Amino acid sequence: MKQAYLIGGGIASLASAAYLIRDGGLSGSQIRILEETEVLGGSLDGAAHNDKVYVIRGGRMMNFTYGCTYDLFSDIPSLVDPTRTVLAEIQEFNARVKTSARARLVKNGQILDVSHMGFSNKDRLALTRLMLRSERSLGYRSIQDCFEAGFFSSNFWFMWASMFAFEPWHSAVEFKRYLHRFVHEFPRIQTLAGVDRTPYNQYDSMIRPLEVWLQKEGVQFMLGAEVKQLQISETHQKKTVSRLDYVQHGREYTIAIHPEDLVFVTNGSMTAASTLGSMDSPAPTARAEQGGSWALWRKLAHKYPEFGHPEVFSERIEQSKWLSFTLTSQNSQFFDLMEKFSGNKEGTGALVTFVDSPWLMSVVLAHQPHFIGQPDHVKVCWGYGLYPDRPGRFVKKPMSACTGAEMLEEMLGYLPFSEALPEIRANSVCIPCSMPYITSQFLTRTTGDRPAVIPEGSTNLAFIGQFCEIPNDVVFTVEYSVRSAQIAVYDLLKLDKQPVPMYRGERDVKVLWQALKTLLS
Ligand code: FAD
Repeated sequence: MKQAYLIGGGIASLASAAYLIRDGGLSGSQIRILEETEVLGGSLDGAAHNDKVYVIRGGRMMNFTYGCTYDLFSDIPSLVDPTRTVLAEIQEFNARVKTSARARLVKNGQILDVSHMGFSNKDRLALTRLMLRSERSLGYRSIQDCFEAGFFSSNFWFMWASMFAFEPWHSAVEFKRYLHRFVHEFPRIQTLAGVDRTPYNQYDSMIRPLEVWLQKEGVQFMLGAEVKQLQISETHQKKTVSRLDYVQHGREYTIAIHPEDLVFVTNGSMTAASTLGSMDSPAPTARAEQGGSWALWRKLAHKYPEFGHPEVFSERIEQSKWLSFTLTSQNSQFFDLMEKFSGNKEGTGALVTFVDSPWLMSVVLAHQPHFIGQPDHVKVCWGYGLYPDRPGRFVKKPMSACTGAEMLEEMLGYLPFSEALPEIRANSVCIPCSMPYITSQFLTRTTGDRPAVIPEGSTNLAFIGQFCEIPNDVVFTVEYSVRSAQIAVYDLLKLDKQPVPMYRGERDVKVLWQALKTLLS
């Protein structure tokens, strides 16, 4: 009987397992997921160490264009109320807790007027030109190759960059793809009113329900299992995985892969080698150990150039890293002060970005409780900085060298209630998180650096996740990983089904007209 081996336990693999069962007709017992860590979810993590320390590496914004993600979760029962689906739960939550940010950008402790985008005519021209250029002609160009310096201090740039985590040296192609894919967001970029969120952190709201469903279906989860190598047999220009070697809890194992079996590889990971600090210690930057995702991809690509060029994404940590932090407070003092200042109740605002912060620091108050089981008096929020190597304005150190207490101090410095710092600090724990590869998928690259989901000649191997190529779609999204899963399953099983069509707002005249008005504002 056909077996499917899914390498990696992030959303790309979990989605692939769900599609293999739902659309491919496999039973769960035919599917094994091998994950090198002891927990499923990959980047979509969330951990409650106790009621004083909660940690999320990131928080996710989604919207109606997440066709594959919403399709996937339209069949998965919610963890909190199994009579409803996860999608129904997300939709009900967003109808009840609507996002409409009133304090998107802050400078000198004051909320900035962001009703205009701050473009010069040259910026408008450059933006339009970039949208019209072909990806091939852009090649390895970066965003800063396409705009003049002034663009990077416009309201638009601060809002777009902090929302999607773009930096000037990132790929112009990825930036262009985002402009197209989210063109409908132009008119509401200042309020983020189009954003959907999950009721809890994405580990509780997405990963755990999916894991429970897959477990019920009989999928086998092999945790602590790092896949080290795949052996590939070649006949008549066809490539077929014939063996899989992995190490689980220190012991080496080999699985024989039959030609009818399927292998899905999540190649590369934006959260590989991430580390945590504490209130008193910075998060160390782990440079030596990259994790199984990069190591396996490197070995495969070394032999087969059509499997892409991992080093294009993994060897520029200084351009791909940044840090986030999770603040857990034992009372509502910080939330109360932020709500009063921003005019947004928890969960209804967006990232509050401090444009005078050398780190370009942002913070967002999620709806509470953010974790299932979080006590009522506890509040959890998340923030990040895009430029971790620059010295802070109040703590004169790079963010990457700061403890959690120093990150909290730096953040409070930008807010008009900084005198509350001693009390907030006494009642809070701030955990820094260093992510060396967090924007590696945005680094400059060209055609062929990422493998196709099903590489040329492959009979049973698919690449899924953030580092495979899906024309027109945008990386750094859950949607990209889920779409890759859908493509991989439908193609490898040769199903008579098409992935959910991608939303193409740039083909809608009304959307374009609204975007144009924003461009001219
Ligand atoms: P990963 O989550 O990286 O999972 C890969 C997994 O595979 C890992 O667990 C790894 O350990 C395992 N693995 C890999 N190779 C091997 C091997 N050889 N052996 C065993 N195990 C292996 N998305 C949005 O849509 N909106 C947002 O607002 C958003 N914001 C984000 C903010 C942050 C801070 C972060 C970190 C991510 C954000 N994302 C957002 C992106 C989204 O979370 C990711 O795109 C998605 O979770 C990637 O999932 P994945 O399964 O493709 O890869």
